[in-house]
Amino acid sequence: MIPDFHGPHAGVRTADAESIDWHDPLPRFYRVRVLRHTCECRTRVYELCASSGLAWIRRIERTPAGVTVKESHPTSYGKAEELWKKLLSGQAG
Ligand SMILES: [Zn+2]
Repeated sequence: MIPDFHGPHAGVRTADAESIDWHDPLPRFYRVRVLRHTCECRTRVYELCASSGLAWIRRIERTPAGVTVKESHPTSYGKAEELWKKLLSGQAG
């Protein structure tokens, strides 16, 4: 087996993709765990985060001007996982 250097990439958004309501991160959670993340080769990296029985997606954008972090609304693990799959397949973004 040839080892794959790249991790998963966010999909290219389809025309009817669900729009994720990104907002500024709120410092209300402690011990946030990153369950999954997309490939670091992109300037935009997504993380599936979990804390206190909730999960959400974090969007990290690295540009020469700095790092911008946005987050989706915390929801159940199941719903966040579903949204994560949509993100990777381009059905949400
Ligand atoms: Zn990559």
